[in-house]
Amino acid sequence: MTGVVLALSPHLDDAVFSAGGALAARADAGWRVVVATLFTGNVAEAQGFALACQLDKGLGPEVNYMALRRAEDEAASSLLGLHAVHLPLLEAPHRGYGSAAELFQQPHADDPAREALARAVDALLEAHAPDEVWAPRALGGHVDHVLVHRAARAGAPAGRLRWWTDWPYAYRPAPADPEAETMAGLRWTEEALTCAVRARKADACAAYASQLGFQFGGETAMRARVSAMAAERYARSPA
Ligand SMILES: [Zn+2]
Repeated sequence: MTGVVLALSPHLDDAVFSAGGALAARADAGWRVVVATLFTGNVAEAQGFALACQLDKGLGPEVNYMALRRAEDEAASSLLGLHAVHLPLLEAPHRGYGSAAELFQQPHADDPAREALARAVDALLEAHAPDEVWAPRALGGHVDHVLVHRAARAGAPAGRLRWWTDWPYAYRPAPADPEAETMAGLRWTEEALTCAVRARKADACAAYASQLGFQFGGETAMRARVSAMAAERYARSPA
């Protein structure tokens, strides 16, 4: 069987980091795999905490950070045979989340991303008519991941949804789990990664060069972790 997968990635890297192996295996098997990254918009001039998030990656204020990350995502997607789509929503530091701690608290009640995501998910479902919709489990509790999770749950048919385990967030000590209640009762499965797929996943992850130091402590450490990853883990509704 083949069909269409629509993967809803909060940021430019989440889908590939978390589910890149299984998505590549689908594409290899003849599926059309669309990875839509929601938060890829840029502001003319980053300020405050948003600018700090760029500077701490070693990128000066003159760099168009999101343009650079969109190009990284194009490169990663083509290595895995995925179709990248970039939506222009703004990441949390541009929506009033003013510190690293705030990124991992509950979404603000008046966060404009709630409505924008609902519209974006509807439009993507309409445009791509997916047989499966993949989205983050939201382990770790990053506000953008939580909002994408909730928009996917509200907008897509439950039987088509498949939740990936957010990597590397999920493997930090005691990751926050804001969706624990709604995830109870789901069926967990593992998708084994062949050596060949694992090697391509590592190359694709390496394409997100601006994120490797921050997320993994560098490319070598990232590659060691991917090569030790025998499987990716997913949750689905009981059949
Ligand atoms: Zn993310």
